[in-house]
Amino acid sequence: MPIPLAQNPGPNAATLFYVTLLIIFVTAIITTVLAKWSRDKCLKFFRGYRITMERARGATLWGRFKVFSSGVEIVYDHPYVDPHGRRKTSYLFYQIELEQQVLSLFRYHTQLPPQEQKLRKNQVHATFNPRLFRRFYRGLRNFVNTLRDAFNAAIGAAVTQYQRSNPVLSTQGTTVTSLGQTLLGKFANAYEPLLEQYIGQPVILEVADPLNPNNAVQEYTGYLADYTQQFIAVFNVDHAEGETISEIDGVVWRTGDGVDDRYSLWLADGVFFDMVDQTRFINHSCDPNAKVEASLTDDGRASATIIALRPIAIGEEVSYDYAFPASLAEPCRCGSPRCRGLIIDEDALPAANKRASG
Ligand SMILES: [Zn+2]
Repeated sequence: MPIPLAQNPGPNAATLFYVTLLIIFVTAIITTVLAKWSRDKCLKFFRGYRITMERARGATLWGRFKVFSSGVEIVYDHPYVDPHGRRKTSYLFYQIELEQQVLSLFRYHTQLPPQEQKLRKNQVHATFNPRLFRRFYRGLRNFVNTLRDAFNAAIGAAVTQYQRSNPVLSTQGTTVTSLGQTLLGKFANAYEPLLEQYIGQPVILEVADPLNPNNAVQEYTGYLADYTQQFIAVFNVDHAEGETISEIDGVVWRTGDGVDDRYSLWLADGVFFDMVDQTRFINHSCDPNAKVEASLTDDGRASATIIALRPIAIGEEVSYDYAFPASLAEPCRCGSPRCRGLIIDEDALPAANKRASG
């Protein structure tokens, strides 16, 4: 008796079932690993530092900050003995409690030990002068974020389509969709175009206490370092725009004095101001955060000050544009996205480029 041929030559129901099971299993493993590994990137700024936590309810806490994917821990410097005589060594917050209770986290620069101040300074530097890789990574992540909704919609549509043709999948459909979303969600700390444009820019952050009946708002001035769905990270401002950072101590000399020092400020034709204090070691940047204002009085005395061009965060390196004449130009490694390639006066650059190209 001939065996009847299967109507559908595609994979049978059992194969589909096991393949689906395998996909769900693998996705679940990857999701679990990523969930263990992923932490809020704003909180990560403070990981390992001594912080102060202000809460909407309950006392303010301070201690060493630990960040996990499921919450945070604040480890007290010294065990705290409560009125009942119980020794407490740390405080745990689950993710949901962070959302409900925490108003602000602070890291006070002046209270950090030198090693932590240095690490913090590196963070500030990396935020304001992002290297190529960092910029690429940020761009990539934002790209993934914008695609996420499209992916989710596509996964949903595909699953629905699949369910119609393969009834065996009807129960796994929702699992696949939600796993897909969780998986994509791990890569995607919120992308918010509104905030993204202000990364590295001065901002005023207003924090409202939801439990305060007066709707009082606390203002923090600083640089937007990063944001997530839950937090906004800001580096405090040390110097406001237009503020004098330092007076410069120096000596006036004139062409023909026999001094050869290119690291002097130009005051007037043939008159220079040689910086003799620590301002001498301020680096050049093609995108500086400060400028030098120098002037020569009629009686031949000079004065110079360094003035903030924009708000400068605590720990951020102060820089100004050396604006060398073309004859003194040298290669620049300031790392700014606006780097001209040479330490040179902006006005002298077109001529210098022309010379270089032939
Ligand atoms: Zn440069």
